[in-house]
Amino acid sequence: MEEKQVVFVTGAARGIGKAIALKYAENGYNVVINYVSDKTDVKALEKEFKEKGAESLIVKADVSKSEEVEEVVKKAIEKFGKIDVLVNNAGITRDMLLMRMKEEDFDKVIEINLKGTFLVTKAVVPYMMKKRNGRIISLSSVVGVTGNAGQCNYSASKAGIIGFTKSIAKELASRNIRANAVAPGFIDTDMTSVLSDEVKTNINAQIPMKRMGTAQEIANVVYFLGSEESSYITGQVINIDGGMVM
Ligand code: NAP
Repeated sequence: MEEKQVVFVTGAARGIGKAIALKYAENGYNVVINYVSDKTDVKALEKEFKEKGAESLIVKADVSKSEEVEEVVKKAIEKFGKIDVLVNNAGITRDMLLMRMKEEDFDKVIEINLKGTFLVTKAVVPYMMKKRNGRIISLSSVVGVTGNAGQCNYSASKAGIIGFTKSIAKELASRNIRANAVAPGFIDTDMTSVLSDEVKTNINAQIPMKRMGTAQEIANVVYFLGSEESSYITGQVINIDGGMVM
């Protein structure tokens, strides 16, 4: 029997990350995920992956802390021997207008969203290089392309992910490692559930498709970018946004 492929999705106990991890699980991958919240029900998650036919490794690890990142990657290699696909999904918002944004809220968002993407990618790539094969998909955002009032920290982190992705795509292409980003629009998860109904109605009015996207709709494209179906695509940013940015 052919050896199963392995995906590592960061911050995947809920939301878009969980949908991505389940998508890979149901398509024959074993799954590594990490989380930070003490509320995470590891046993229930393991059961969900098992029901999709996947073995899983679920580790508490903060993507912004290099020792914790190195530890989760070490455990993944011990258990599965390789990582074929990395999805840099973990991310947070700390929204505020520039004039009232605290330095710590700027730093925190950059540390988790952008530096976290760097730390995890740096820890995983040596194993992909050894295999001369790998796919890296990072979660940017439409606001990383367009900017957004009240999100200068988040938009900067997501624009940074685009520059990071294009740079590593150039560095790693000759080793048969592809790197792409996706830029979701407004997706129905905990991250956007904090928005008021009025804000959501206003946002929906600006989306040509007149609705928010689902985590599943992001997972489908992230799966494509990790598969052989996208074998000649690298260094790209795919908008998944119901037509918001075109
Ligand atoms: P979410 O529901 O808020 O989930 C965020 C996930 O990130 C959680 O699983 C959380 O872990 C994890 N996380 C946060 N800080 C972490 C850290 N320091 N280390 C490890 N994991 C951490 O968000 P989402 O909507 O699914 O978003 C997923 C990604 O898509 C993010 O990068 C986000 O910026 C991006 N995105 C989302 C939207 C949207 O509209 N929702 C749009 C564009 C881009 P715990 O569960 O342990 O807290």
